Formats: sequence, structure tokens, C-alpha cells
Amino acid sequence: MTSLQGFIIRPALVFGVGLGLILGFCGPLAAIPHSTDVGVSELIGTSTQGRAITATRYGSEPATTRVVVVGQMHGNESAGSRVIYEIARRLGSGNELPADAAIWLISSINPDGAVANTRVTASGVDLNRNFPAGWLQQGRGSSSWSGPGAGSEPEAVAVMAFLERMDPTALLAFHQPFAVVDLTHPNSRPAGQRLATWLGLPAQVVGCPGPCYGTMTGWVDTHFSAIALTVELPKIVTSERVVRSATAVLRLTRWLAR
Ligand SMILES: [Zn+2]
Repeated sequence: MTSLQGFIIRPALVFGVGLGLILGFCGPLAAIPHSTDVGVSELIGTSTQGRAITATRYGSEPATTRVVVVGQMHGNESAGSRVIYEIARRLGSGNELPADAAIWLISSINPDGAVANTRVTASGVDLNRNFPAGWLQQGRGSSSWSGPGAGSEPEAVAVMAFLERMDPTALLAFHQPFAVVDLTHPNSRPAGQRLATWLGLPAQVVGCPGPCYGTMTGWVDTHFSAIALTVELPKIVTSERVVRSATAVLRLTRWLAR
């Protein structure tokens, strides 16, 4: 793992990093001298095929309120990454976070799947069945393959190590296409209800086809005393909805930091 923490990159490069992940580039990030209003990017791990998985922090460090936003887990669901770029654009152009709050943006934790336009990783694993929370070995050969062991995949390992280090207050994970905020985790429901209102989406307990096993939010819910919410955007996501979604995430962060 290569740490780029401590280097500052300008918003345009944040976009570049994100786009690079989507497009499968994994070259070194350019380091630019410090300034005060830009994101701090950290390479948190690499995918099965060696692509970068990067988190970019905006806001104070350390921060009492720490929000992580994952734009994409399933490679054929790309709208959440557009929300990530919009949040980065807004924060990079002076949209203030509350004092003592920070947002970490991860464009994609599955860059190989993004390149291949597949739900699963290059190893054929559904990352949302691979986390060590109620993990079951199920679905081999399907798009819901759990992988051979709990937390077996480098993408999941990268995310878990990162979250262990920064101990999130809240994790938001974007998916598609069901147009709903999932209230599966009881401790996350007050935040989820508010987020759904601000997104203009319904909120309900969605669950899984069959038992939920190995989900990222399930792991965050059980492993940390943290809010863990899945946001299912619609199949077709307009630019207006991208803007509204970014606004909702920023509003939730301010609400959490109140
Ligand atoms: Zn998904």
C-alpha cells in the first residue's frame, strides 16, 4: 500500500483521480503544495487487477464527525460516482463543512468492475457479499458470489483497513437502480429518514433476496457504532438528481455535526 496522505491535490485532480478509477488508469497522483480548500487524497488499496482505490478527505483533521461516501461498489452502477464528483466540486469550490467535520469520498471500491461494466470484481465476487458480517459462502458463479472467504477480496480488505483507521461516524453507499434509502439497520434509521427526504426518495427496510450476508453496511453497522446507509438511486439518474444527491449528503453531514 502506498500512502499519499499529506499531499494535497486540487479539485480538478480529484476529478481526474475518480475518472482514472472509472477508466482504469492507475498512475501516480501529482502532488501539489499545500493549500487550505482542497481534498487530501490517500491511496487506500488496489484492486484485483492492480487499479487504485483512493479516498479523498475534505474538512478538518482530526474531525469529530467523519462521513465516508462510497460512490460505487457494483461496477455496472455508475451514478454514485457522479454524485462523488459533484460533492468534490462543491467542497473544492468553497462549500463549507461545519468545523470539526470531514467527508471522505471514494469514487469506486470496484474499479475493475467499473471498467468491465460488471456488478462483480475481476475475481467474479460481489463485494456486497464478501464482508465479514453474517458471511455465508453462497452464489458461486453468479453475480452474488460471496467469494471463498469472509473479507477475501483485496477491495474489501482495503475498505476495512481504511475504515478501521478513520473510525467513521457514518458510511453512505450508493447503488442502483431501486430508488430507495434502505433502513435495514435500526441505529441508522433517524439519519436514513432525513437523508431520504432530502434525496426525494422513499425510505424503507429493503433487505436482500434471501438472507443478507456479507454486506458492507452490515459490517459497518456491527463493527463500529456508526450509521450505515445504502442509497439506491434510480436506473436513470439526471444531472438534477446528481446535484440534489450531493446536496443531501452535505446536508446530512451538517445535521450529524450539529
Ligand atoms: Zn449495487
